[in-house]
Amino acid sequence: MRKKEKAAIVVDRLKAIYPDSCSLEATKDYELLFATRLAAQCTDARVNVVTAVLYDKYPTLEALAAATEDEIAEIVKPCGLFRTKARDIHLGANKLIQDFGGRVPDTMEELLTIPGVGRKTANLILSDIFGHPAIVADTHCMRIAGKLGLTDSGRDPYKVEMDLKKIVEPVEQASLCHRFVHFGRDICTARSPKCEICPLSDLCREYQNNIKKTKKSK
Ligand code: SF4
Repeated sequence: MRKKEKAAIVVDRLKAIYPDSCSLEATKDYELLFATRLAAQCTDARVNVVTAVLYDKYPTLEALAAATEDEIAEIVKPCGLFRTKARDIHLGANKLIQDFGGRVPDTMEELLTIPGVGRKTANLILSDIFGHPAIVADTHCMRIAGKLGLTDSGRDPYKVEMDLKKIVEPVEQASLCHRFVHFGRDICTARSPKCEICPLSDLCREYQNNIKKTKKSK
């Protein structure tokens, strides 16, 4: 089966299991930007609890920019890595006001100038706020796409991004990556994937190769 065909089937099956793709809650562009920053090594559910408190106390970008790093850190503590995250949010709020007129910019180049924003976050913002096609090559995406045989680029996020861009329909790209996160937490986990109940096992290169090896060794 060609990679493009396989990608289309994966999209359909994961869409059926996870109809809602993004689970971070945000009503303003910068709220999603900072929620994404907080989501590094933290669950979306916890981030949503923390951002509700943060944006209630600092309801505007200006209020957030005027807060101290310590004040922000105190609130975002439950998300882990809180000092770095608080610093990025504080600097990021000021950067958005000073350089972008208080709006989140809509180009990769500009997004990458914001503290704490890497290519992964920038792609998520480009897709979720501006509706651009974008692959968010995070740890779940790289692991699962590799197991399925949709990419052979291992853990190189840029190469995986480029591989998937070629085979996933533009309109499905961002949602597929969100669904990989859900799927990677529920079923295809890093430590112990639940292959026996996996809805993608017939498509999974790694699983099928393991079955072949087991048969040969018998
Ligand atoms: S069969 Fe196993 S390794 Fe393959 S995608 Fe499913 S859970 Fe992951």
